[in-house]
Amino acid sequence: MDTTNAPARAADGLWFGKDLSASEPIPETAIAQALALMRSGRLHRYGEQGAGTPEPSLLEQEYAAYVGTKYCVAVNSCGAAMFLALKALGVQPGDKVLTSSFTLAPVPGAIAHAGASAVLVETQDDYTTVLADLEHKAASSGARVFLLSHMRGHITDLRAVQAICERHHIALVEDCAHTMGARWDGQHTGTFGRIGCYSSQTYKHINSGEGGLLVTDDDDIAAQVILMSGCYMMYDQHMLRPPAEVFERWRYVTPNFSMRMSNLAAALLRPQIALLPERRQRWRRIYDDLAQAFTSVPQISLPVRDAREDFVPSSIQFSLDLSPAQIEHFLNECAARGLYIKWFGLRVPTAFTSHFGHWHYLPEQAPLKQSQRVLRQLLDLRTPLSLTSDDCRLIGQIVQVAAAAAAAHPPGG
Ligand SMILES: *Cc1c(COP(=O)(O)O)cnc(C)c1O
Repeated sequence: MDTTNAPARAADGLWFGKDLSASEPIPETAIAQALALMRSGRLHRYGEQGAGTPEPSLLEQEYAAYVGTKYCVAVNSCGAAMFLALKALGVQPGDKVLTSSFTLAPVPGAIAHAGASAVLVETQDDYTTVLADLEHKAASSGARVFLLSHMRGHITDLRAVQAICERHHIALVEDCAHTMGARWDGQHTGTFGRIGCYSSQTYKHINSGEGGLLVTDDDDIAAQVILMSGCYMMYDQHMLRPPAEVFERWRYVTPNFSMRMSNLAAALLRPQIALLPERRQRWRRIYDDLAQAFTSVPQISLPVRDAREDFVPSSIQFSLDLSPAQIEHFLNECAARGLYIKWFGLRVPTAFTSHFGHWHYLPEQAPLKQSQRVLRQLLDLRTPLSLTSDDCRLIGQIVQVAAAAAAAHPPGG
């Protein structure tokens, strides 16, 4: 964190100062396997003379078994997985693709990568999709695909989304970059539509620096994605793969986009899959501690979560019922106590945080009044697994003091 422009420390002595971007160490078994791979020089997943059992093939098997899909293809990012999903579904340049208005820049980026035009669907107070707006745009936009982003782990009613997509013959793709290990109504996110996409970038639930996973039950999608991800003609080195005749349909007509996962990334990830249940427990404990600490802050509201949503929160979002100028004041008061909170209502895109108003390459959208109102008050705090209950109490204290100070300021500035 760049603290050169940080405001002076607050006089009340409250100080947090921990690095919220901290990551868990890579498991020792993964480090040992990565070292062995480096000693062998075998870092590419494919080999013309055979490649042994490549790590990504094992990872694909293990991850598909974990979420319960027929296929999994390991790629180099979730953004790549989403791009490949759109291509495999036949999205052509100029096509419209429905997507969430509350999402991260790689999502509209994947749509632009496919040459398509994003049509944004409104977001409501609990940070999920406005189903009525989805229904309306599904019926009127001409889009054939909905790329639903479970942004920051907030899961829209997936049974209702499925029903809308079915009614309008729209293929559902789930962006699960923040819902690995999460379930709706007992079923893994990423398995409700045609394709699910996950990230193993450092700030997600499992960490290989960069990486992505795509899951599907569809033979033709799996074959296309394997070819497009860059297997050349070595698709038989995938343990999970459709029958040879499916590849015959696609091998001459499918471009290679070079989006493979390396052996090294897969070796780092494999032992982390088994850690997901334990990480879920720890993240839920942190979320509950923070939610508890925020109850004493009258300006804060947390989203009401559906009983069917089994979420895995690697961050916490809350709405702060203050004006933009007051929220800026709030953020400064927090920063003066060593607590760096992010804001989706910010005027200028900063670090990882931006919103749809900053993506000027998007085609013109119908007004997104509800999303705008929600994002203007939406604050975001990453919650590394190293946070203790005492840390959470301290964060609550700081937020309370900062909110009270900000509320005492005139709303206009
Ligand atoms: C991080 C993220 C992505 C992109 O993942 P990469 O692996 O970095 O491409 C997509 N969607 C959401 C919601 C994310 O948070």
